[in-house]
Amino acid sequence: MFVFDTITHRLRRGCETMAYPNGPAPALPDRHGGALRVDAAKCPDGCAECLPVCPTVAITQPASRGIALDLGRCLFCAACVEACPHSAITQTGDYRMAVRRREDLVLGEPGREQVRLAAALDGKLRKLFGRSLRLRQVSAGGNGAEEADLNVLGTIGWDLGRFGIQFVASPRHADGLVVTGPVSRNMELALKKTWDAMPEPKIVIAVGADAISGGPFAGHPEVRDGAASVVPVDLFIPGWPPHPLTILDGLLRLLGRLEDERRLTPPAR
Ligand code: SF4
Ligand code: SF4
Repeated sequence: MFVFDTITHRLRRGCETMAYPNGPAPALPDRHGGALRVDAAKCPDGCAECLPVCPTVAITQPASRGIALDLGRCLFCAACVEACPHSAITQTGDYRMAVRRREDLVLGEPGREQVRLAAALDGKLRKLFGRSLRLRQVSAGGNGAEEADLNVLGTIGWDLGRFGIQFVASPRHADGLVVTGPVSRNMELALKKTWDAMPEPKIVIAVGADAISGGPFAGHPEVRDGAASVVPVDLFIPGWPPHPLTILDGLLRLLGRLEDERRLTPPAR
C-alpha cells in the first residue's frame, strides 16, 4: 500500500525540474536586481558620489573617463544605484553575467555598458567536456553562500546532471576545478595540490566575488585575492553569492550549449 501511495504521489507531482533553458528562466527574487549597467554618457566628470558608498572599492575613477565599475568586486548591494543622481548606474534584472576574461567584468568605458558574456571553450575542449563535465569543488576560505548555491544546482528543481555536469569527490576524476572563497593563505596549498592532481586537460571556474577578486577581503594579508593568483581561471561568475541561474548560464555558455538565453544546443560530438 505504501509503495502504491508513493508511486501515485510521484505521478501526480509530475516532473519538477524546471524547463530552463528550453523554457522560461525562473524569475530572480525581488531583492536581486541582476547585473549592473553603467551608462558612461550620463556620468559627468567630477561627480564621484557613488565612490564612497561602495563597500568593496569596486568603483574607481580613472583619469581618462567617468568611472570603472568592477563586477568582479561587486557585492550587488545597489548602494551605488541609489547614490547616483544621474541614473548612470542601473540594475538590469539580467541573471547573465559570467565572462571568460577578468577584464570583461569592468564596466564604464563607452561600448562597455554591460558585461560581454562568456564565449565557449575551443572546439577540442568543447568536444571533450560538452557532453560530460566532472567538477571538483574547493572552498578556499568560502563563507558557505556560494557553496550553498552550487549545491542548489544538484537539487531536483535544477538537475545539473541532465546537462552531463556532476560534482565528484576526487580531483583525479575531475575535468574542472570550481573555486569559491578569497583563497585564504591556509587553503592556498590545498588549492594548488588539487589543481596539480587533476589530469590534463582541465579548466578552472571562479564562483563569486571572493573567488574572482577577494571581494570584501581583498588586500587582507591572510588572503590571496582570488583564485587567479594560484590557478589559471577559464570562467568568472560574479555575484555575492551568484544566483544558481547565473552559475548555470555560465557553465552552459562555457560548454557552448547556449545559442541564446532560451535555446539549448546539442552538445559537440
Ligand atoms: S552594487 Fe556593487 S559597485 Fe555598487 S556599491 Fe554595491 S558593491 Fe559597490
Ligand atoms: S556613476 Fe553616477 S554617482 Fe558615480 S560618478 Fe557617475 S554620475 Fe556620479
